[in-house]
Formats: sequence, C-alpha cells, structure tokens
Amino acid sequence: MPRYDFRCRSCGATFELRRTMAQANDPAVCPQGHEDTVKLLSTVAVTGAASGGAPQQAPSGGGGGCCGGGCCG
Ligand SMILES: [Zn+2]
Repeated sequence: MPRYDFRCRSCGATFELRRTMAQANDPAVCPQGHEDTVKLLSTVAVTGAASGGAPQQAPSGGGGGCCGGGCCG
C-alpha cells in the first residue's frame, strides 16, 4: 500500500498515511485533529500552477512594422 505525505496547514505538522490509491485524494486529518491538510508529493517537484503550457515563444514577425511602410529603405 503506498504511503502519502500530508502537511497540516493548521499546525504545520507533516504526517504520513498509508492508504490505497483509491483513497489518495481523500481528505486527510492531521494527528492533532485538524482537517486543513494538503497532500505532499514526495517524488514530483511541484513548483506551482504558473506554467501556461507552451514555453516561451518568439513573437511572430510580419504585420507591417517599419519596413512594411517603406520608412527604412
Ligand atoms: Zn494539525
């Protein structure tokens, strides 16, 4: 049975629970009785939800601009 790490946001405690994968997303209760807990991922580094999908992309050229208007050449 896999083990899952949780952190309590009420008291800051981290604790570990053994539960089935079917229960992996169930809310966990801190040993101190707090219910405001988050599940920690031990193998995958989570940096937040800032990624927008595609990596940085160069702005597409075209669209007139200076040379399109004949001002530079
Ligand atoms: Zn707690």
